[in-house]
Formats: sequence, C-alpha cells, structure tokens
Amino acid sequence: MSQRPYILNETNWGAVREGAGANDERKRRSRAEPAQAGDRRPRRAHGEPVRTNDSPEFRPARIAVLPWGATEAHNYHLPYSTDNIQCDYVAAESARIATDTGARVMVLPTVPFGVQTGQLDITFCINLNPSTQAAVLTDVADSLAGQGVEALVVLNGHGGNSFRQMIRELQPEIALFLCAVDWYRVEAQEPYFSDLGDHAGEMETSVMMHIAPDLVRPLSEAGDGHARSPRIAAFREGWAWAPRKWTDVTADTGVGDPRVATAEKGERYLASVTAKIATFLTELAAADFEDMYE
Ligand SMILES: [Zn+2]
Repeated sequence: MSQRPYILNETNWGAVREGAGANDERKRRSRAEPAQAGDRRPRRAHGEPVRTNDSPEFRPARIAVLPWGATEAHNYHLPYSTDNIQCDYVAAESARIATDTGARVMVLPTVPFGVQTGQLDITFCINLNPSTQAAVLTDVADSLAGQGVEALVVLNGHGGNSFRQMIRELQPEIALFLCAVDWYRVEAQEPYFSDLGDHAGEMETSVMMHIAPDLVRPLSEAGDGHARSPRIAAFREGWAWAPRKWTDVTADTGVGDPRVATAEKGERYLASVTAKIATFLTELAAADFEDMYE
C-alpha cells in the first residue's frame, strides 16, 4: 500500500511535534469514509453566491470578498488550516445569506498565509510578511478594479494580520472601494463563551466542531491553552503592545482553554456572526461609494 502524503491543511501541531504527521490511519478518519452532509460547507441553496473557486458559471458581482487566513499551529487538536477553514466558511455563508436578499457578491479564494513573525520557531507556521501581503492585496485589487467590481472586502481570520494601514496606503491609488472586517470581532464573544482566550481556545474549537468536525481531534488530547502573563503591567493591561513570542507565552501553542467547547456554541455564534456580515454585504452591495455619509 502506498504512503499517503502528509497534508498540512489536515495536520495539527501535536502530530508535527511528535514527528508523525496526522495523516496516518491511527490519527485521522480515512478519506474514503463518506463526508456527513453539511459537515463542512454551508448548504447550497437557491441564490447562493458565486465562488471563483468552484463555480463554472459567471454572474456579474458588484462586490468581492477576499477571505484571508493563516497557516499556523492551533494547540494539539485543531488543524493548521483552522483560520482558513473558518474564514472561508464565514465568507461563503455570509455571502449566501446576502445573495438570498439580492446582493451580488463574489467570494474569492482564501489566501492561506498570514503574518507569523512571532511563530517562526514552530514547525510549519508559514509567514507572509506584511509587506508581502500588501503586494498581494495590491495585485488582487488591481485585477478587480476595472472588471466591473466596485468594492473589495478583506475578511480577516487571523489576529496577526492587519489590513488597515495597507488599505490607507492603497485606497488613494485605486478605483475600488476597499474595506476590512475581522470576522471574530463582529460579535462580542462573552455571551457565547466562558473562556475568552484568543487562539485555539473555546471559540475557535467550538466553531471548528461545527464546520469541520472531522478535522478536530478529541478534546481530551488538547492542551489547556494556558498563557503566561507579561511581567510588565502596561503589557498586561493592554495599553502597551508588542508582538508575542509565541513559544514564550504558551507550551501547547493555544491561548485559551478549549476543553469546554461544543459544536452547539460554535453554531450559535457563527449564525449571529454571518447574519451580521450578510447585512453588511447587502448594504455595501447597494451603496453609492461617492455618497457614504448622511
Ligand atoms: Zn486561529
């Protein structure tokens, strides 16, 4: 029997650290096992948005959504592709709801690499520097401008990514309305989750248990996501900021305890997030970009 290749998208850091990879039969379900309906993707419905990744048809879209994730370790139990799967889902589901109301939205392929300068010592965390991201964003935006697309929404799914300064620099140069949304900031997390850690914790784990359960390892295998606090008060209080050296902060790469996560929490939270983003996309698709203030 031939060896299956290791697929980073399906691999968790626990497996990489063990040097085993996550693609052997011991660690993951066989690919031959049929996927459960509704496992991963929002269900296709009437009025679904066009996705450049998977649709042969063409419908003119007034706005485009660019999901932007990262490839990074997420504790022992979530795959490296966590941010990409989440971002891709939120973009597609929000656009599906918006399209049902008549908005013309195109969801672009998810950019799979984010800023990881604080995690370069963690195997397979793949860094795209901010300056490289700016070059990618500029080329994508340049491609869309003049093709009939009037606005580009960067839907960010990774805390190390920040598109505001890039957009400030690019906007005066381009005839395309630019904006950015961090999907995980759209809705307050307190009403949904008890542990508000910010990486591979209760929120991300719950979300992944809902949208990609076949890629979530049993929570008994997860680390506790304990994060060490900064010694200096200003950093603890959050009004002074420096990028975190990840391996100095957490032993299992997680920040936040994932062990109280449930798929139901993820489903409720995502329903609220995608409804809000869908409303935004609908308003944006109908907007006059020359007249944005009342
Ligand atoms: Zn993440």
